[in-house]
Parts: sequence; structure tokens; C-alpha cells
Amino acid sequence: MTSQIPAPPQPDTPRTDSVSSILSGFYSLDSGVPGLSKVILNKLNMKDYGEYRAAVGGKAKGISFRNYKEMFKKMEETFEFCASCKKLPAHLTEGQTLKRCVKCLNVYYCTKDCQRKDWPQHKKVCKMLRLVAIDRLVEWLMFTGDLPLPTEKWSKPAAEVKNWDDWLHMQGDLTPRLDAILPGANMATLWTNASRPRPDDSDLQPSLWRIQSEFLSRVLTVGMAMQHFGLDPYAKPLTIHIAGASHNETMAARLTDYDELNNMFPEHQGIEIVMVGPEVVDGPITRPPLSEFGPRHRVYISAHKGLYHQFWEDVVDKEEAAKPDLVVGFHPGFHANQGLVEGWLPTLLLLRDYNIPSFFTMYSEAELKSSLQILLQLEMHIGDCGSNPFTSQKPEQVQSCPNTTPVFCNSHYVRFQGLLPQEDLEEPGLDN
Ligand SMILES: [Zn+2]
Ligand SMILES: [Zn+2]
Repeated sequence: MTSQIPAPPQPDTPRTDSVSSILSGFYSLDSGVPGLSKVILNKLNMKDYGEYRAAVGGKAKGISFRNYKEMFKKMEETFEFCASCKKLPAHLTEGQTLKRCVKCLNVYYCTKDCQRKDWPQHKKVCKMLRLVAIDRLVEWLMFTGDLPLPTEKWSKPAAEVKNWDDWLHMQGDLTPRLDAILPGANMATLWTNASRPRPDDSDLQPSLWRIQSEFLSRVLTVGMAMQHFGLDPYAKPLTIHIAGASHNETMAARLTDYDELNNMFPEHQGIEIVMVGPEVVDGPITRPPLSEFGPRHRVYISAHKGLYHQFWEDVVDKEEAAKPDLVVGFHPGFHANQGLVEGWLPTLLLLRDYNIPSFFTMYSEAELKSSLQILLQLEMHIGDCGSNPFTSQKPEQVQSCPNTTPVFCNSHYVRFQGLLPQEDLEEPGLDN
């Protein structure tokens, strides 16, 4: 009997928007651990990445598991390789098994020797990887509906809420809301079936918050971008496009996912969110964008599967969707390689030439720097950039290189609009 159990977005599903496997780079997992991409596909009983994409897009039968135990086991198996010599289970000698680091229960070794050799690197991240290993299981509660937590109305105007501390201050004590999830049925199911013992509640409670923070980070970043550009949702309805929306953001997405904007801008004139990307997963949000003004005081979400510039040609140019007042991109990752720059180029040029207020996020300062270089080569007018006060609190592991320092979703941002003013490009004259 095969029941359909929604799989969490990681690690079974290679995250195309993340450092673990960027869009054209699913197979680049193999540069870290030869054969890893194949292991992931085998676990899912799929022959190639195309089939995998069809499945997460809802076109194929879908990723199904016989039971939760199998699902969590297969998730974990995608992490099973020796962190030191990179050997996969298939390459072990007779009688050898991979064993986990007892501290983090996250990275594996084929021998004590390999572990010893790796310790100088691993010790720098072991503590954080322990949290990552807990989070990747607890994240399943986003699919069961235990998370996200309901949030409170804002007691301050949006402009005064500048960071997580300000936001948390308005929420009162989150502890009882987080604690209420701990004795729940889904939490119990999770740890009966996970291939590790249940951590203490003192570990699970902060994990729930970290996962909630990643979800909210996207909404609060959109709200921050609106303010940075001086967009006033009280003056008129606003349309915001999320370009390059991934399966990570759209799988199991709810129509209410951006409702925190209602708390941020109470009684606004209507905010439309349109998620556009080739990885968009079919669900309740895959419905046409609005061609007329949407409902006042409400956030209206829709999603379109396809490349962003194609969406303009097929839908926006035909006036079947409103032109955006703002375009946000979560981790477009175009800095990563030439292929991705080329993939994003038509979109970047479109944003520049139509003078669209644009706001992109990155996983790290290094990613921000390389992204800035590319934007400057395109003569984009950069407004500002830096670290995001609403960065996700959940560390992300680089799957094929676990000893790399974990990164955080939306940790950095860049804001840009239109072409660099020409006077800035000209050689300065001489003072007379
Ligand atoms: Zn080894
Ligand atoms: Zn460890």
C-alpha cells in the first residue's frame, strides 16, 4: 500500500535555490561527493532530474513513501557519505558501515581514522550541524500544519519595526505557543519514525522558532523592501512579483502565507503577490494573477510556473497581469556560474529597462559581493545593500560539503532600480 505523504523540502528534494544544489547545479552535488545526485534520485525511485522536477511539480505521480519511517529514512540516507573521504555506502568494503558523529548526529564517517582526520574542520561546525540535523526533521511540521504559528497584530507602525527584536517584542511571549506544539500528535509521529532519538524539548522549542523564522523572513523581507522603495500600500493597491520562486517556497504553500503583511500594513488598499518561477509547485496558489485591482485589506497570492521574462511576454505584456510595483528575488543565485547568469540575464535586463524597483536576497556576504559585481557590469543603479535584519535564524548546511560554515536564508540583500545614471559613468572632469 502506498500512501501519499508530502515530503519536506529538504533534503530529499534538492533545493534548486540553495547552496546545496543550484538550478543548473543539481549534479554539481557530485563535485563534492561523487555519485550523490544519483543516490538522491535512487532514493526517490527516479531516473533523472527531469523526472524529479516533474514529480515536485505535481506532473508525475509524486514522491510517495510507504510510511513515515521510510520517508524519514530516505531523507537521512541522502546525507550518508563519509565527510572525510567522500565514500558513499555503495563504495564501502564488506562489513564496513557509515557511523554518525555522536555529537551532531549529522555527518558520517567510514572509519575512526576518517573521523580523526576530519575533526579539525568538523569541530568548527559540529555544534551548529547538530541544530541543522534537528531542524531538517522538525521542518516537516510545516507540512502537517503545526507551523507556522499564528502571529499577533502589530502594535507599532511598520517603519518602527526594524529587526527581529522589534518584531518579537510585539508578539508577547512566544513560549506557550511553541510549547503547545511539543506534546502534539505530529511531533510524536515524527520522533517515532525518525532515525534518531527525540531531542529534549529544550532543543525542540528553539528549533520550532528557527523554522518559523525562515518562513516569516520572506514576508518581512518583502515588507522591508516595500518600505525601502517608499511604496505606500495605503495610497494604492500594490503588485509584488517574486521572481524565480522555487519549489522550496511554493511546495505546500498556502493562500495565507503572506498574511503577515496585513499585520504590518493594517487596512492597506490590497497587496497582490505573484510567485513566478520554473520550479513553482502546483497547489492552491497556482491560479491566475489579478488583472483588476484585488480585494482591499487583503493579500492575494497567485503563482505562475515559468521563467520570469517569459511570464512578462505571455501574461504581463498582454495585460492579463498588472505590472509589478516591486520585484523580489529570494536567492536567485545568478552569481554561482555562467549558466545561471545567462538564465537570469533576460530578467535582469527587463527589470533594469522597465525601471522596476527590485530587491534580491543572498545566503552570505560572499554571495552578495559576487552578485553586486554582476549587477554593476549590467550598469544597474544599486540603491543599497547589506545584511538583512530579518534574516532566517535557521542554519543551512551545504549538503555535499557539510564542514562548510552554515549559511542563512535572506541573510543579505541588494536593492536596485533602473540604469546607473549616466553622469556616474562618465570620467570626472578637472576642477578649474
Ligand atoms: Zn572515509
Ligand atoms: Zn559532529
